[in-house]
Amino acid sequence: MSASNSDTWTAADSAALYGLDRWGDPYFSVSDRGHVMVQPRGDRGGSLDLLELVQELRGRDLSLPLLIRFDDILEDRLERLHAAFERAIAQYGYGGRYQGVFPVKCNQQRHVVEELVACGRRWHFGLEAGSKAELLIALSLIDDPEALLICNGYKDQRYIETAILARRLGRQPVVVIEQADEVERIISASRELGAAPLIGIRAKLSARSTGRWGSSVGERAKFGLSVPDLLATVDALRDADLLGELRLLHFHVGSQINDIAVLKDALQEAGQIYGELTRLGAPMGYLDVGGGLGIDYDGSRTASAASTNYSLQNYANDVVATVKECCEPHGIPVPTLVSESGRAIASHFSVLVFDVLGAGGLPGAVPPPQADEALILRNLRLTYAAITDPGAELDGLQEAWNDALKFKDDALAAFRLGYMTLPERGLAEQLTWACCQAIAAHLASLPADAVIPAELRSLPAALASTYYANLSVFRSAPDTWAIDQLFPVMPIHRLDEKPNGLGSFADLTCDSDGKIARFIDRGQVKPLLELHSLQPGEPYWIGLFLGGAYQEVMGNLHNLFGSTNAVHLRLKASGGYQLDHVVRGDTNAEVLEAMEHNPELLLERLRVASEEAIGRGQLAISDARRLMAHLEASLRQTTYLQS
Ligand SMILES: *Cc1c(COP(=O)(O)O)cnc(C)c1O
Repeated sequence: MSASNSDTWTAADSAALYGLDRWGDPYFSVSDRGHVMVQPRGDRGGSLDLLELVQELRGRDLSLPLLIRFDDILEDRLERLHAAFERAIAQYGYGGRYQGVFPVKCNQQRHVVEELVACGRRWHFGLEAGSKAELLIALSLIDDPEALLICNGYKDQRYIETAILARRLGRQPVVVIEQADEVERIISASRELGAAPLIGIRAKLSARSTGRWGSSVGERAKFGLSVPDLLATVDALRDADLLGELRLLHFHVGSQINDIAVLKDALQEAGQIYGELTRLGAPMGYLDVGGGLGIDYDGSRTASAASTNYSLQNYANDVVATVKECCEPHGIPVPTLVSESGRAIASHFSVLVFDVLGAGGLPGAVPPPQADEALILRNLRLTYAAITDPGAELDGLQEAWNDALKFKDDALAAFRLGYMTLPERGLAEQLTWACCQAIAAHLASLPADAVIPAELRSLPAALASTYYANLSVFRSAPDTWAIDQLFPVMPIHRLDEKPNGLGSFADLTCDSDGKIARFIDRGQVKPLLELHSLQPGEPYWIGLFLGGAYQEVMGNLHNLFGSTNAVHLRLKASGGYQLDHVVRGDTNAEVLEAMEHNPELLLERLRVASEEAIGRGQLAISDARRLMAHLEASLRQTTYLQS
């Protein structure tokens, strides 16, 4: 940890403090001016000042909270994934290829899927669908005859027939049998249509797993065939003369694999099953290792929940090397490797920026002395004077803090017994917190290696503030609430200034769960984040990073906060950026309609009520007009607070 105090604090200290130099690399960094910089093309040059970008977008009437999608990052992630597999294939002399697909469930937004399909064309990158609606997206967007279209999820007859017929369109749909009874539906649909789909089988591996989604494998997993079911399925396909279409073995050990050892076990098991399927007479050709490629949210490079103990390259190396080891000794041709990496592709590219509306903390100012103050109050003032004495020593601070706490308790007791008035009790509390703040300020000025008594060390946390965020976590970062997911959160400016307090965020919803109060801390979690005090009239803008996967579709309308404004942008070759798409956030009218309310009817009722109030002489006509104007404007505007 840097020993910088407020005079020598630099932007680099902030990068270290918020872990940006670890989780942000290569896309996010800090400029000397203390702004977050975005390098959308990673190492290949070009950068944008996030603060200036947000200012310019606001100038276009795009208010916060704002989701900024950097399509260059999406493309860079795809390139890195493919480059990692290409390197591994070359390094291990693997005789096959890598051909990935994007699991649509990870981010179904039209512009996102379209962008991935367009960027992925050079690698014949495909899509994975887990439902009929996702299949429709995938079918309509993929027109590359070599790209795979992996059909997962529960499948009824219509889903299966759609996939079979899509093959006639020149697509490559692979229907993955996930449940034992699906094979019968595939057989009957194939008979009915006189054509067959490409067929895959999802194996239920017994390999152990860990992490949040660990239960995606093992005997009790929701999807996949046990070994007996798998063998029965092969027999059924052979009897129906469809074994020649069995091309793919699929497994998925759960999202965000933290520990690479879990993947290795699964790969070995799946590699053996793959070999067995070829020996049973299936042509095979593809091994689909599912999703699970993790993201290092906290930059700690550990097997903790918010991290991974491997890099993208380690992952590709292990997949390639393990599959090769399983196949070659048995003379089995190595398969084309497929992965369904969603989180790893989509997390980095979107940044959510929200503003802070205000901060609630404890009063720290010292109230001016009054005539004839009670003894307890005078004692507290003396204590404060001792703490703020320039010559105060650490030992003295501890003693002074003990005194302050005692006086505060005495004040409370005196109040309970009727010897102290409510304003006096208020003064006592104010003075106690002023002492606390003065001690915290003193501690902050000490060198980083100073030995500070534990009790004093906890004072800054006791002084923490709540920052009110113009945001709904239920809408924009639902996993922070639902599954305690950690995302890097930090100010996007003022990073050349030492944060002078601790805080957490409360969102706009009237729900006590609507908060962000868990922050990354190098493999650990901390309840408070280092933040700056608000400057009057100045905005304080916070970025939530690495949230491009899963958050949008999982987000809900709690308290009727709708989607935020979103933009897609690309760096221009000539410098600067271009806005490719602007997606306006939900208006109040739209979220009301989502709940079956009729905004027009709502307005009409209020118009009638206004007329009645005017008739009774309770409302002036000009006020009625103003009320209706506010209501009409609100219906057209976003659900968030306007600054
Ligand atoms: C969710 C899912 C994925 C995507 O997983 P990530 O961890 O986001 O890569 C891939 N395949 C299947 C079958 C899934 O259910």
